[in-house]
Amino acid sequence: MCRYNLKLIKSTHFRVSSSTEIKKMEINHLLYLCFLLVLILTKTTPSDEDPSVIISRFQQYLQINTSQPTPDYHKAVEFLISQAKSISLDHQTIELVDNKPLLLLKWPGSDPKLPSILLYSHTDVVPSEQDKWTYHPFAAHLDSTGNIYARGSQDMKCVGMQYLEAIRKLKATGFQPLRSVYLSFAPDEEIGGHDGAEKFADSDVFKSLNVGIVLDEGLASPTENYRVFYAERCPWWLVIKAKGAPGHGAKLYDNSAMENLLKSIEIVRKFRASQFDMVKAGLKAEGEVISVNMAFLKAGTPSPTGFVMNLQPSEAEAGFDIRVPPTANAEALERRIAEEWAPASRNMTFELGQFKQKASIHDKFGRPVLTATDSSNPWWSLLEDAVKSANGKLGKPEIFPASTDSRYFRERGLPAIGFSPMANTPILLHDHNEFLNQAEYLKGIDMYESIIKAFASYAQHPKDEVARDEL
Ligand SMILES: [Zn+2]
Repeated sequence: MCRYNLKLIKSTHFRVSSSTEIKKMEINHLLYLCFLLVLILTKTTPSDEDPSVIISRFQQYLQINTSQPTPDYHKAVEFLISQAKSISLDHQTIELVDNKPLLLLKWPGSDPKLPSILLYSHTDVVPSEQDKWTYHPFAAHLDSTGNIYARGSQDMKCVGMQYLEAIRKLKATGFQPLRSVYLSFAPDEEIGGHDGAEKFADSDVFKSLNVGIVLDEGLASPTENYRVFYAERCPWWLVIKAKGAPGHGAKLYDNSAMENLLKSIEIVRKFRASQFDMVKAGLKAEGEVISVNMAFLKAGTPSPTGFVMNLQPSEAEAGFDIRVPPTANAEALERRIAEEWAPASRNMTFELGQFKQKASIHDKFGRPVLTATDSSNPWWSLLEDAVKSANGKLGKPEIFPASTDSRYFRERGLPAIGFSPMANTPILLHDHNEFLNQAEYLKGIDMYESIIKAFASYAQHPKDEVARDEL
């Protein structure tokens, strides 16, 4: 731009050289024009770090429809690769399962011997009921208050893009990481992560990354404090089944399938209430109690018009979604299920409880699946300080009430912290009209800039990393 203006002045200078006065006037005039041109050009070609450009990159990612069950993963990966190229990050696409690409980016550290940092995110989003949304869920509409409406604006395309934006800023300042920083954009989190994070965490590629700490998603916070998660509850899906002698609908007798199942349901409901009461009384957070909710009831003898009414059926079944925090006593809960919820002793025809899914609350070293949030974990202290120095506030660390991909890393004994920097924001993940305010999004980039800088500069080999290497 400047070179162009100088040329303009030079050529003009040649033309008016006959009169010094005219020459001076014209040069002044041209300098003024040049000044105006600079003003116009700076206004019309905003830099990469201009907030409106940062927001428009976020919108572009949100506009790619990666909704389950038919996510356009290839388009998302293509877009993310273009972003990676623009900030000179190495990229690699891994298809552990056909058509389910996982994008891995790398910012090499100066000391490759040190364990690396993994900035994790998933590219898929949950489906949306379009007619219940004010704006189209893939329009990424920015309203007059600065809210950006889109599926994935909170869960978790925001985080994936914020990692990239933070690195863009750090690169612009000339920062050089000591540890390598990896970013992974994985598929399928919203359908269990089996073809995404689970296979990735199991892969040789993952082993070769020598990851020391994983950052993954958290939840929005309606208060000014960011929420941060160090563990999550493990799903136990239990089905209990009662069998009993069938009988006439008018007959009173003991040990019918329905009666026994209802006794169990009453006991389960009492337990549920005892856990929920602790949350209501403020004694425990949602993630700290064992939740149990009935998912289905299956009983009755079908008839062409509904159910046979004068017959007590010989079988009845109920399914429960149970979530167990890693701090709970799993053995005691299993005993409770066998002795109280589905006891063989109460009715000989009662079948023992069966689990459709039962995630372990212990990692592969037999320790509870959780990441320490005290001075024993240097990453925790670094995170606390980094958020504080970027003028953010962290709430008390929590156990995530549902599941995220973090569990696949924690199960391997790796520390993983769930953190999505969204304060003063209603929790709208999986809800209609999911949105994130642009100011909050931009503030989140500053948080990651501070965190990545702190993590990537951390020179010491943490104690637990050494311990793991020795195992
Ligand atoms: Zn998510």
